[in-house]
Amino acid sequence: MNNRLYGNLIFELSKEGRQGCSLPKNRFGHHELPASMQRKEPAALPECDEPTVVRHYTNLSANNFGVDNGFYPLGSCTMKYNPKINEEMAALPQFQNLHPLQPADTTRGAQAVCTLLKRSLCALTGLAEFTLKPYAGAHGELTGLMVIRKYHEQRGDMQRTKVIVPDSAHGTNPASAAVCGLDIIEVKSYYDGTVNVDDLEQILEEHGQEVAAMMMTNPNTLGLFEPNIPDIARMVHEAGGLMYYDGANLNPMLGACRPGDMGFDVMHINLHKTFSTPHGGGGPGSGPVGVRKGLEDCLPEHVSPFNGNFAVEMRAYAYILTLGREQMKLVGPLATLNANYIKERLKDVYELPIAGLCKHEFVFDGLKDKSTGVTTMDVAKRLLDYGYHAPTIYFPLLFHESLMIEPTENESKETLDGFIDVMRRIALEAKENPDLVKTAPHNTPIGRVDDVEAAKHPVVKY
Ligand SMILES: *Cc1c(COP(=O)(O)O)cnc(C)c1O
Repeated sequence: MNNRLYGNLIFELSKEGRQGCSLPKNRFGHHELPASMQRKEPAALPECDEPTVVRHYTNLSANNFGVDNGFYPLGSCTMKYNPKINEEMAALPQFQNLHPLQPADTTRGAQAVCTLLKRSLCALTGLAEFTLKPYAGAHGELTGLMVIRKYHEQRGDMQRTKVIVPDSAHGTNPASAAVCGLDIIEVKSYYDGTVNVDDLEQILEEHGQEVAAMMMTNPNTLGLFEPNIPDIARMVHEAGGLMYYDGANLNPMLGACRPGDMGFDVMHINLHKTFSTPHGGGGPGSGPVGVRKGLEDCLPEHVSPFNGNFAVEMRAYAYILTLGREQMKLVGPLATLNANYIKERLKDVYELPIAGLCKHEFVFDGLKDKSTGVTTMDVAKRLLDYGYHAPTIYFPLLFHESLMIEPTENESKETLDGFIDVMRRIALEAKENPDLVKTAPHNTPIGRVDDVEAAKHPVVKY
């Protein structure tokens, strides 16, 4: 890349005395800061002319891959297209310029958005009430578990300190339970990643009195709908525990069924996945928590200041209104159709360990032909050469060469076909010229990174 010309860091381009901006005139007259608050030395800021700054950041941004550049089939993370109308709505000055400490009677519009969004989420999930405050999925999980803890405390049921978490769960599930001060009991999966009901039965027999909740992700990490939810919910409820639904990726459910109707008591939704907000790189997010009737008073007053990430809520509400009731019903079926279409068209060259219908995502176990020595890592790297973001790799841990693909509902057939063609081409390359795939990527600014070296000797500062 043109790193030499534009520099890796803006500081490397700094030339003493260069200036690329002028500050607005002080409109408030001359109010000198008290001497004690003034700098003794100038701030260590880069000094650059405007074209250099613009080129530096524009070139950096072009090294990024996002849903606006291309297809992003990252399984278990719902990287869906983010309609631009959402951005326009979130950027309306009437919303964008609100100050959280403004008098409440001047923020009626924003409050109405929050209320209407909560109502929409209740309708979509079959639950009674939501809080919008949590900042992310993991924050929602922690909040939801605190709700559950409060429920048990209110009943004087103080010995319930254990949470049952499937071994296939997203890593945030056990982490949130631990942060909440709860102990984790892992329940095994069957081969297809669905909850092993016999194992659950045994756990409940042994620890039933201490179980605060069971956390479930549905469809599970292999994109399969858990077939035994009614039984599982009955068993956990009979033992006195509550059912928690990890609704981070709710796409396949929309229009098909609702967690509240399936026996779940508490759930979170990742607005930044299911309801479209650009995410990745750590934020911004929003993880509203919903509860069934009877648990409303366990919802928190304070898990974050004010109303959470309001701009993400705006985007989600814009998305919901844009789709409307009728089109919302197509989200689940289309997410499911798209995933199954890719799966069926690739399963003759990629190993499909769990056959049958999937929901919004599915997992291959690497290439079918293992004799070439080409791994899932190689396929993922080669995809970058063709301008595709790699799917999730080496997760879930149930298979050695996991390649987890989620197309999302809003991609066209042509986009899916383009991806399928490239995946087939890579499978062919693996046979005909395996070294080409094993040494990929070749067209990116940085080639294959030595990730063993990176893990053993991380360089964490520039
Ligand atoms: C993404 C995800 C989470 C965590 O959400 P964050 O917003 O990243 O904290 C939890 N569970 C599942 C199933 C997820 O896919």
